[in-house]
Amino acid sequence: MPRERARVLGHLCEHTGCAKHGGFGFARHRQEPHWFCFEHRDDGERYL
Ligand SMILES: [Zn+2]
Repeated sequence: MPRERARVLGHLCEHTGCAKHGGFGFARHRQEPHWFCFEHRDDGERYL
């Protein structure tokens, strides 16, 4: 997913093959957040 498109649509789930809206953001302090949908939000735990 190109950055431009992601910015237009908002945050998209980063799970491979998933193109749902990423409503759940995961980020360590001062790092770029990673976004996942409800279904894949567990994937974000490893970024914390
Ligand atoms: Zn997803």
